[in-house]
Amino acid sequence: MEDLSDAIPNFVFFRGVYPKSEEEITRALLESKFNVNKPRKPLYDKLPKEFVLEDWPRTTNNRCYYDGSPFKGVPVPIPMKKKGKVIRREEGVCCSFACAYLSIITSDKNTWARKENLMNLYNTIHKCNYHTFPNQLQKKEKINYFGGQVDLIRWRAENELLIQNEIE
Ligand SMILES: [Zn+2]
Repeated sequence: MEDLSDAIPNFVFFRGVYPKSEEEITRALLESKFNVNKPRKPLYDKLPKEFVLEDWPRTTNNRCYYDGSPFKGVPVPIPMKKKGKVIRREEGVCCSFACAYLSIITSDKNTWARKENLMNLYNTIHKCNYHTFPNQLQKKEKINYFGGQVDLIRWRAENELLIQNEIE
């Protein structure tokens, strides 16, 4: 059963009208802890599956689909289809183009089309015309919480630098 030690009931027990069974008390405590009257803030922003670039959020509270850590700034989607200006994206968003690219090449759906879609998005946003991301990007296993040597901030910075040096 869940630990209720930090649940503070927001009701008063009156003599004679208190809940009778242990089960009822537990339910009352749970309802008080997860107060249904207060709208709870969702854990992560819900991002559109289909969008035009101009409307894509400039910031999010999501976690990176590749490295698993929270980030600020523009979430990077992996485009699946494009119809006119409308982009349909895959599940999950990344903290950077580096992570989006790494998530493609380390997945079992490492296809040319997915890399091409991402490169096209990069080119559209940065108004350039590159053909491929650098292949020396460091995989997430280099981050300390995956057993590697560097911390997340340094890892992200180094990958971003690689992208900038290689294709900008
Ligand atoms: Zn990331």
